[in-house]
Order: sequence, then C-alpha cells, then structure tokens
Amino acid sequence: MTNLTQVDKYLETHLDESIAELSTLVAQPSVGAQNWGMQECARLVGQMLARRGFNVEIMPTGGAPVVFAERKGRSNKTLLFYNHYDVQPAEPLELWDTPPFEPSLRDGKLYGRGVSDDKGHLTARLHTIDAILAADGELPCNVKFIIEGEEETSSVHLHDFIRENKQKLAADACIWEFGGVDHREVPMQYLGLRGICYVELSVETASIDVHSGLGGSIFPNAAWRLTWALSTLKGPDERIRIPGWYDGIAPPSARDRELMAAQPDLAEEYKSRFGVKGFLKGLTGGVELALAEVFEPTCTICGLTSGYQGPGSKTVQPAQASAKVDFRLVPDQTPERCLALLRAHLDEQGFSDVKITFLGGEPAARTDPDDPFVKIVVDSAEEIYESKMEMIPMVGGSGPNHPFVHDLGLPVATAGLGYPDTRAHAPNENIRLDLYLKHARHMARVMYQFSE
Ligand SMILES: [Zn+2]
Repeated sequence: MTNLTQVDKYLETHLDESIAELSTLVAQPSVGAQNWGMQECARLVGQMLARRGFNVEIMPTGGAPVVFAERKGRSNKTLLFYNHYDVQPAEPLELWDTPPFEPSLRDGKLYGRGVSDDKGHLTARLHTIDAILAADGELPCNVKFIIEGEEETSSVHLHDFIRENKQKLAADACIWEFGGVDHREVPMQYLGLRGICYVELSVETASIDVHSGLGGSIFPNAAWRLTWALSTLKGPDERIRIPGWYDGIAPPSARDRELMAAQPDLAEEYKSRFGVKGFLKGLTGGVELALAEVFEPTCTICGLTSGYQGPGSKTVQPAQASAKVDFRLVPDQTPERCLALLRAHLDEQGFSDVKITFLGGEPAARTDPDDPFVKIVVDSAEEIYESKMEMIPMVGGSGPNHPFVHDLGLPVATAGLGYPDTRAHAPNENIRLDLYLKHARHMARVMYQFSE
C-alpha cells in the first residue's frame, strides 16, 4: 500500500480544486431528455480526461456520444469505471433554492443538477487519479473510463456499443456509476439489478367514440377488451399467468438468503412510509419479504387510460384504451423472450387485437458476492466509513449492468458518494463534501489493492 498517506493528504488539500472542476462540469447542462448540451458536455469530459494523460475518444452512437478514455498503469490489470455525463431535467425550476446549473456551496454541501447523479462520481474518481499521480507518478493499474450520455434515457445505445467495442473495453473489474451510504451512514454494496420489460398495451375498437345507447349492446368496447386482456396476465394469487414466464428462473441461493437476512427488516417502515396495511401473498416481513421484493418477476400496471373520467356522467363507449405495464425481470429472463411470450399469450387468449408497443428494457444481471474484487471494494471501505460495507445481493430497480457482466465478463461493484438526502432527479440535488472525500479515498485503496 504505497504512498496512501500522501494520497490522502493530496485529496484533502486539493479538495477545493476538485469541487471547482465539478462545478464547471455541472454548469455545462447536459439534459438528455431535452437534447441540451450533450456534445458540449462530452467534449468537456473528454478534455478533463485528456488533461490527466488519458487517451480519449469521443465515440458516436445512434444518440449521445460515449466518451472512452484509457491510461496505462504499473500492473497489467485493468479497472473500468462506468459513469454518465447526462443529467435529468431540472424542472420544476421554482422548487430549487439556487439555480440548478449554477452550482452553489453551502453548509458543506454542493447543490446543482447532476452533482450526485453522476458528475460528482466522475470528478471524485478523477480526484483520486490526480492524487495517485501526484504521490506516485503513475497509476497502479490500467484505468479505462466509459462515460455514456444516455443513462437517464434508458441507455438505449449502450448494449450495442459495448458489444461492438468489447476489445477496447476489456478489463478485469468494473466500478459502477453510483453507490453510497444509507441513513445509518453504512456504505452499501449493491450486487445486482433486476431487468425490465416496459410495454404499452393498446386496443382500438372503433374509429370514434360512440353513444353508449347506440353501441353498448352491439359494438365492442375498447376499455372492456383491454381490462379482459389485462386480467389474463396475473391472478389474485399474484402469479403471472403467461405460459413460460417462470422458466429458467433460479431461486435465491443460500448465500442470497444469508445476505438478505443480515439486512434490517423494513416491514414496519414500509407500512408507515407508504400507508400500506399489509403485504401480498401473506408476507409479514423478515427475510421472506426481502427476498420476495427483489427476487421475483413482477407484472405492474403503471397506468390505465380510456373513455371519460371527468366530473358527472358521460354515456359514451370508448373507441380506444391503453395501459402502461412494466415487467421487472430476474436472471435469466430477457425482454426479447418476455415480449414473445406476452404476444403468444395474448393471441392464444383471443386478444390479437391488443397491440404491444415495446418502450424499453434490459435483462437482469448480478455479480457474485464472493468475487475477489467485491471483497476488495467491501473490505477497503471499512477503514474509510468506520463501518462494514453491507452487501445487498440484488435490488429491485433496473440499470444497464447486463452487458458489463455478461458481454465483458466483469465483476461489477458499487461505490459512491450518495446518501439518502442527495435528491437525485429532484430539485436541490446535492452532495456532501465529506462523502465526496471519502469516496475519493475509498477509490484510491481499491486501485492499489486491485493492482497487487
Ligand atoms: Zn439518474
């Protein structure tokens, strides 16, 4: 563990410079959804890496460019950092205490759109690299960055980009774009993400809405067609009724169960936070609730639209009906296979008229909790956070980790500067400078230990 004292000293004494660099990056808007500033931000990120001796390529995709950067180090091991330079829209602007693209430092926190998600993660890692270069003259291992510009808009081109650039992206391990501490200040290691298959189901039974006195007994009703179709997808027992849906799904392992059992029981917190009286399938809490939350496929009606919903009554037969439905996927379900199963099921049930529009998806992926790289990230966190990093084998949300795990064959570990009040995607997004520094110190330890 060479020069860690010097590295730490550098990180502390040059923190202001790193925060200034982050502020410059945040002041460059890069709102993917509004296609605002994407090329400019990619260029700025490229310059930041080039200044540190990285070979940088700004690589086009079908959407926002990917910034790829590489710098050789002492050992022949390669660490890949995945980050993104795009941010969520800042609206509603009136709810920000200071303008979202004018970073503002107060009470040990930096406020601005993207400070946490994900620009702060990027500059904290660059800060680590500066400190190591200052203390050591070279990096302990090869370092690559893949920084995409479409993370907040479902990473639509990332899978193809990774498949087409496997050689370039070859590495031994990957640090994910986010991470952080929970409400107890305990650092968390998230080892897997569920997949997703998001669809819109729609029916059109006539070219215009019809008087219900005329059409009620002789015309098909779009709202009924849709609700009948939806009712075939899942039963009151919560089991998804699409044939083949559960084929090839591996149940949680004994190790998953052990890791989940080590987590606090959230049953009471869920009840008070969300006002639910109980849980599905007779679950009451504990490890069974925790496992069911993330290791089971879901079929969620996210929204339903049809006919008249205004005040009073309107006797009308709707011509159109639609529903947004998301299916969360577990290993080894894929959106492609699920779409095919859904189509076959609807046809078989007599609903060929229900149109499926695929709105996006990705398969689930997870990293082995006992991978040696995970051990390095977890063990090296303890000294920094003065608390053991907790391992969560799987979380319920989704993200583009599948091509990293399955196409590049990498263990993917999370580490970062997030905390519960970071307000990512919301007004007054902020980071705590103490956690920024901790993340940079943590990354230095990971890089040295990984290189040994
Ligand atoms: Zn985000």
